[in-house]
Amino acid sequence: MKTEEKRGERVLSGLGVSAGIAVGMAHVTEQGDVPIPEYDIAPEQIGPELARFEEAVAVSIKQLRKLKTKASSLPDSAAEEMGLILDAHLAMLSGSRLVRGVARRIETERINAERAIQREINAIRESFAGMRDAYLAARFDDVRVVGARLLRNITKTPYDAFKMLPEGTVVLAEELTPADTALLDPNRIAGFATVLGGAESHTAIMARALGLPAVVGVAELLGGPVPRGIVIVDGSAGTVVIDPTPATIERYRKRQEAFLDERRAFAKLRKLPATTRDSVEITLEANLELPQELGQAINAGAQGLGLVRTEFLYMNRSDLPGEDEQYEAYRTLVVGMEGKPVTLRTLDIGGDKLAGALVEQLGLEAANPALGLRAIRLSLKERKLLETQLAAMLRAACHGPLRILLPLISTVSELRRVREVLAATARRLKRRGVRIPDKLPPLGAMIEVPGAALAADALAGEADFFSIGTNDLIQYTLAIDRGDEQVAHLFNPLHPAVLRLVQFTTEAALRARIPVCVCGEMAGDPRYTALLLGLGIRDLSMAPTNIGRVKQRIRSLDMVAATRRARAIMDQWDDGRIAALLDDFNALA
Ligand code: PEP
Ligand code: MG
Repeated sequence: MKTEEKRGERVLSGLGVSAGIAVGMAHVTEQGDVPIPEYDIAPEQIGPELARFEEAVAVSIKQLRKLKTKASSLPDSAAEEMGLILDAHLAMLSGSRLVRGVARRIETERINAERAIQREINAIRESFAGMRDAYLAARFDDVRVVGARLLRNITKTPYDAFKMLPEGTVVLAEELTPADTALLDPNRIAGFATVLGGAESHTAIMARALGLPAVVGVAELLGGPVPRGIVIVDGSAGTVVIDPTPATIERYRKRQEAFLDERRAFAKLRKLPATTRDSVEITLEANLELPQELGQAINAGAQGLGLVRTEFLYMNRSDLPGEDEQYEAYRTLVVGMEGKPVTLRTLDIGGDKLAGALVEQLGLEAANPALGLRAIRLSLKERKLLETQLAAMLRAACHGPLRILLPLISTVSELRRVREVLAATARRLKRRGVRIPDKLPPLGAMIEVPGAALAADALAGEADFFSIGTNDLIQYTLAIDRGDEQVAHLFNPLHPAVLRLVQFTTEAALRARIPVCVCGEMAGDPRYTALLLGLGIRDLSMAPTNIGRVKQRIRSLDMVAATRRARAIMDQWDDGRIAALLDDFNALA
């Protein structure tokens, strides 16, 4: 990623993952103090407390190694400089005075690990203070930074401090999890930028859901002096400007106005149908990350909720949501949509979207989480999780049309087993006298594993509907981690293998006469609209903020021409040629 110097301001590039422009005061999350609990521990707690500390050390080492890999993509001198700092931090985590001192304090002073870290840092500070040596004083800064990392990891601190930030702040961080991002209030936070993260990560999706301009994968973001003044995040272009000149600020303010004007123009399409020029009607639905997006979905004219990611119920808490709590959340959505269909997806936790409570309780740390106990696999193993969720969904189904969607389906037997659990849960609720609809809600499969796409004919015999998750489908087909900025340039929706799988799935659904929708990020990008419709898709579900622009594209399209162009594209094997054929078509109509 290149850096451009301009009279004191620093222009950095990364991946623009959520459109829009933020101009505001910088807040670097790593600089904030973490509130720490302090307590004494009993002798039998020493072992577990040491284990907690060791885990925090291991997590910190993992993070620093990741940062080192990222730093190696910087220009030579910057890479060397950052590499040295990160090496020093890594060394401090392997048997240094800090680590040994904390362990000793846990054992001898019988205090919790957080307090031991704090005390050891203070003790090191005192011994350094006596030395009056500028070099050593600088080394203490490293101890303090490593100590803060340990405290953040051991307390598993979500950035609660976000609540305290003044309006218009731009958050800069090493990394934000989807759960951290969910805590960013778009009324206070103007946007964010991070060192790590990929374009289709759930953090990026959450940013789009919140309408927060965001740039991720900015290697140099926290490499130089700590940004304290104004910073600009251009989520459309993937640019971050630190300490911009007044002229630059003025230029970006104008772009910001133009972006907002465009949004307002899309909003005017709200009441118009999503119909092509040759009168083919398309259904546009909304994806929901967070319940507070419901208003946005309705305002955007969504004809239903095509994908409700229920993970929000499990984030930023230390317990699991019960049946009643889930029922209330689902009922609010169903009632709010006033008769339009609501598609609730069962828990899709794992991969890059681990939730605190579950990781703790189920020991979900996996060597390769994207291929591990994720999504429907976890629900089928932890039956209680699934039963609770299905019971809440069945109860909510009394209030309006509701569909149940299963993530990461790879075999027919998974669908069958969930159907059995659904039937058993319905019987149990009826026995308890709980009101549920006579007819059970439709049960659908996410098609996001290449094997599921290839077996779409078999799955179509068992599923009531399909929803194609292009984010994971691309990740697994091309072996590209959707959350890794280093391979983000290879994440290509136009790869012929991906398009074949979308085509194959769509045709299998049409043959079996079951509905099929696309709900991955491809659905919300007008660049792909003509191609998806040309392949036979008639239902698209996307972030509410994308509905306007996709509707505008549909209204400018001729379906006969789009189908012809899709056929020509499917005859190609070169993804560059595919892109050219699609972009030429888009430029014409
Ligand atoms: C997908 O994989 O395309 C999808 C819609 O699901 P998620 O992004 O939540 O994994
Ligand atoms: Mg998915």
